[in-house]
Amino acid sequence: MAEAATLERKPEAKTEHFDVLIVGAGISGVGGAYHLQQQCPDRSYVVLETQESFGGTWLTHKYPGIRSDSDLYTFGYRFKPWVGKPIATAEEILKYMGEVIEANDLARHIRYRHKITNATWSSKDKRWTIEGTKGETNEPFRITANFLWMCQGYYRHSEGYTPHWKGMEDFKGKIVHPQTWPEDLDYKNKKVVVIGSGATAATLVPAIAGETAHTTLLQRSPTYFIPARNENVLADELRKLEVNEEWIHEIVRRKILFDQEEITRLCFEQPDFAADELIKGVKALLPEGYDVATHFTPKYRPWRQRIAFVPEGDLFQGISSGKASVVTDEIERFTEKGILLASGKELEADIIVTATGFNLNVLGDIAFTIDDKPLVFSDTITYRGMMFTGVPNMVWIFGYFRASWTLRADLVADFVCRLLNQMKKKGAKQVEVKLRPEDKDMKILPWIDTENFNPGYIMRGMHLLPKRGEKPEWAHTQDYWNEKKELPVIDLDGTEFDYK
Ligand SMILES: Cc1cc2nc3c(=O)[nH]c(=O)nc-3n(C[C@H](O)[C@H](O)[C@H](O)COP(=O)(O)OP(=O)(O)OC[C@H]3O[C@@H](n4cnc5c(N)ncnc54)[C@H](O)[C@@H]3O)c2cc1C
Repeated sequence: MAEAATLERKPEAKTEHFDVLIVGAGISGVGGAYHLQQQCPDRSYVVLETQESFGGTWLTHKYPGIRSDSDLYTFGYRFKPWVGKPIATAEEILKYMGEVIEANDLARHIRYRHKITNATWSSKDKRWTIEGTKGETNEPFRITANFLWMCQGYYRHSEGYTPHWKGMEDFKGKIVHPQTWPEDLDYKNKKVVVIGSGATAATLVPAIAGETAHTTLLQRSPTYFIPARNENVLADELRKLEVNEEWIHEIVRRKILFDQEEITRLCFEQPDFAADELIKGVKALLPEGYDVATHFTPKYRPWRQRIAFVPEGDLFQGISSGKASVVTDEIERFTEKGILLASGKELEADIIVTATGFNLNVLGDIAFTIDDKPLVFSDTITYRGMMFTGVPNMVWIFGYFRASWTLRADLVADFVCRLLNQMKKKGAKQVEVKLRPEDKDMKILPWIDTENFNPGYIMRGMHLLPKRGEKPEWAHTQDYWNEKKELPVIDLDGTEFDYK
């Protein structure tokens, strides 16, 4: 026995150590690596990524027509000009990210097929120990790092959210979630029902309708859309004038953000007028007499969620051609042949696509421990949606929902680099946020104000998310236009930062 145990024991591999460990090689993680290299060039770092390549959202989503729903001038990084059409396919976004990786020699820092399962902070050693599994064989690995830069996104990539409906097991056809779209799914000449009304459904329906016998978009309630040509007139003009791409990128970003600020203000100040204008835009693309009131007149105020851009109004073209239709109703149950609706109507289907959203994932489904005590994120309070009380040496990237996510990934990256440089200047090994004496009586609230913003996955997962305080410093305000002024001038010597 003793001999067998001796033979099996492998020599303890030396644990690798890095100054910074970035979790995830999506748009945030790759951007983080770029900023870190630029602004903290003397720091060692590694990026760990579960998937076999970079891209995150743009790699894992493979449903037909997958594309951005915001423009790439602002969804692209501020440091790398976007030269294509404003709305981009996943393939174009991956190509763009690949160019960033190559031009900045980031690849040698990224390790794919590394899934992190545990993160343990030791106050004694002032470092994180990261454990997980790697490679095809799920071999365990361990790495230590001084600082964690969490770029894991906000939803579970392995599986989308599908509610349970009565009778699902009776349905004889196929049920598919867009997040796990089978590459060999044959929808040619099939009757397809897509459940959902968000950007995914709006993308998928026109992408497949032409080949199916018929595609029905089944929604419980309508959503706002902005149909428009997939072009940016200003960018095209500037290109004609042979302005260089760096300038075009900056000018066009400013113009888009300026316009978006105006639209946001309009939505808050004159919601009825804004709603009417949006609905008018959709109505103009639908056949005379189409029931816009039922199918395209949302009950909520515009801009509670990012309003999906519909390039070339393709969804509405599909409806006008008769290849696609919209049904607004409740699902009573699934049947052998399709879906029975609350109105009593039955929708027949060979394939039902559940474009019903995500499963929220708080910090990459990683089990966090601080000095042997399991960390419960919902017990923490967030500092500007970036750091958490009681969690040392960690920042997470949670972008914007109304504006492009990457605008915030860039802004927060600057903050992380400033913080790392401040720690170095102070000779500090640890930084943590804590409520100040003046925050003593601050009201503690759920992560987000649901009056202001209420997507399903946040509502379903709110109990898992950190808390916010009623002051903007202790909340993720989702307000790019204020944050672009506030984040760069945060006083890192403020009493909310506790250095050790
Ligand atoms: C279909 C779709 C379209 C969208 N369109 C837009 C849009 O047009 N504009 C916009 O602003 N936003 C859009 N979004 C939101 C989008 O997810 C974000 O904007 C952005 O891509 C998120 O990037 P990220 O790098 O932060 O996260 P992700 O893209 O989610 O990438 C996170 C990465 O971290 C990895 N990871 C997670 N946990 C672990 C772990 N434990 N160990 C190791 N690696 C881990 C994941 O594998 C993944 O690769 C869209 C989302 C979807 C699903």
